[in-house]
Amino acid sequence: MKELFGIIGNPIAHSLSPLIQNESYELHEINAHFQAFHVEHEDLESAIKGMKAIGIKGFMVTVPFKAEVIPFLDEVDPIAEKKKAVNVVQLIDGKYVGFNFDGEGCLKALLEDMNRQSLQNENILILGAGGAAQSIYYTLSHFDDVHIDLANRTIEKAEALKELGGNHRHTSVISLEEAEIKQNEYDIIIQTTSIGMWPDIDQSAINITNLKKGAFVSDIIYNPAETKILKQAREIGANTQNGIKMLAFQNALSIEKWTGQKVNYQKMIDSLTKALR
Ligand code: NAP
Repeated sequence: MKELFGIIGNPIAHSLSPLIQNESYELHEINAHFQAFHVEHEDLESAIKGMKAIGIKGFMVTVPFKAEVIPFLDEVDPIAEKKKAVNVVQLIDGKYVGFNFDGEGCLKALLEDMNRQSLQNENILILGAGGAAQSIYYTLSHFDDVHIDLANRTIEKAEALKELGGNHRHTSVISLEEAEIKQNEYDIIIQTTSIGMWPDIDQSAINITNLKKGAFVSDIIYNPAETKILKQAREIGANTQNGIKMLAFQNALSIEKWTGQKVNYQKMIDSLTKALR
């Protein structure tokens, strides 16, 4: 009998995880099927209980349930607990345990496209302080010798996010307006807000006009494949990256967690790129 994995969200019809997960199962001969489940807010608890009752060994969690799901899990890994957001759940010894791979996926994608093993001495700007930014900031703040500016529309959220970095010595909170003015000071800019996402493709968190030579600009949005901010950055010579690789890494990490099987994430990237064209 096939193992069943899935993703819960609302809305969920647009999710590309079923496509790349099912392709991976086929490619690696994993006897499983991946299904998207649309869940209403008031049904979240019973949905989780139902999934456990029918023996689902793992599922992904997306907007708007990444924080809401926590009270209904049996355990949360300390990193996801700190980030207060879960995006992958695994059944371990009869308990649903929550994890968060947003930060790990983003860092892996960054390092790979920058052709680096680690981060050191970079001046980094993170635009946004939402769920994804939390996880990304938490991960990046473990590199003690990078400087990180956190810029968000709601400054209080960025201030609260700074606390998540614990004893990170080089983090400052600034406004989006300040970030736009200081844009040529950064080696890496990571755009994590939802601004610029389809259908609002003519919007961006800041206007890019003047970047440091060799700057790397990453936007974790993957639809559209090139957001306004990435287009502006590319046009003035920056290296850019969209959210496809991060999404692929997270799906690959979840399969590895659930089945122990390492998968070919390049195939996932190719399928996502084709689907989003
Ligand atoms: P979220 O928790 O809702 O956070 C949204 C962020 O965007 C906040 O910082 C919010 O600022 C800001 N924002 C939204 N509308 C704005 C506006 N009109 N003006 C200024 N700021 C605005 O969302 P999330 O879960 O972090 O996701 C953010 C984006 O990342 C989404 O597009 C999502 O698809 C993408 N994502 C991609 C991946 C991947 O694997 N590639 C993974 C996760 C998320 P305030 O705090 O001021 O409200």
